[in-house]
Amino acid sequence: MSHDDKALCNKVKNVFIAAGQFITATLNLKSPITVDAQFFDFCIQNGDCGTETVILGAAKPSRMIPHPDADGKIRLYPQALYKQLNVPTVHPEMGQSEITAIFNSRMNYWFNGDPMPMSERQVDLLYVVIHELTHGLGFTNSWNDYFNIQALTPAVGNISNGSTTQAQFFEFIFDKSIILLQSGTPLTSITDQLNQFQINPTLSDQDLINSFQASPQFPIAQNMYKNGVTHSTMGFLFNSDIPLNTPLSQDQIQNDVLVLETSLNPFQPSSSIGHVDFDTYVNTADFLMMFTYPPGKTLDQMMSNGGSAKTTGPMGPKLRQLLGVLGYDVKKDYTPPTINITSNSSLTSFNLVFSLICILLTFINWY
Ligand SMILES: [Zn+2]
Repeated sequence: MSHDDKALCNKVKNVFIAAGQFITATLNLKSPITVDAQFFDFCIQNGDCGTETVILGAAKPSRMIPHPDADGKIRLYPQALYKQLNVPTVHPEMGQSEITAIFNSRMNYWFNGDPMPMSERQVDLLYVVIHELTHGLGFTNSWNDYFNIQALTPAVGNISNGSTTQAQFFEFIFDKSIILLQSGTPLTSITDQLNQFQINPTLSDQDLINSFQASPQFPIAQNMYKNGVTHSTMGFLFNSDIPLNTPLSQDQIQNDVLVLETSLNPFQPSSSIGHVDFDTYVNTADFLMMFTYPPGKTLDQMMSNGGSAKTTGPMGPKLRQLLGVLGYDVKKDYTPPTINITSNSSLTSFNLVFSLICILLTFINWY
């Protein structure tokens, strides 16, 4: 590893230390969360060499754990969240780490201390890391066009009941709080309607799609697709006092809901729904979970712009409420962490533990 590579890997390590400090300044993690993080060249390692759009990173819960909810439905919980709940922490389906994250080294990153202003072509790695880890904590939805037929459903899974196994649609815990803003309909009631469709697990994929398209449930899924590509149709509700199945007022949408990203058309798996609405939040404290990076802006600049540097930090007031609804213990007060990087800083921040692998491969022309 060259001297430059070593310096870059050190800067990356410091970014993870800072990200951990910001997250644990917001959340009181009662049980350890381990993050498996890798920093490498997506082009060299994965052949992902797109020049139009560069994938900066991706993170997901390492495992989703099925858990019966208060309403009797089984939903899938990200393992990081599952471990914070008051449930037995040993689960047969539990994996080694809570969050798996990868970050692309094929990008000109800006690091704290680098010259300002940051160029439009650079991105602040700290912003990207906190964004991705928030997905890993549970900011992730199951509604998707799984069959590529312009119809949205939750994920298909099997539930086994001793001797019988039944396939059905399963929600993530995030989905439980999503409502249609125009009608106040909770998506979970739409899942119930879709689950009237009997999934026959012995059918081939194509036969299953055909039978779904012929079913009375198909128009429901098509209508959900329409909602998924229409601006400001869905929101994450964090006030349980709002009556369901009643259209929300503008006031309620502003105060009690995080409006989700539904303006991308066609539907973009892993961008649509699973982010906050760009137009609504780009100039607010809740910018962090927008689907795309704001060109030329550092995390600090976005926080100053949204007025949240001292009040909530990167995780804005609505995101804090959302994480609380999911089941995290959100700290009442936010104290901006002192980012004091020394060469022997640890990659552990309270109960947030990083295992970071930094691979900077360079091709050597040896023939
Ligand atoms: Zn994202």
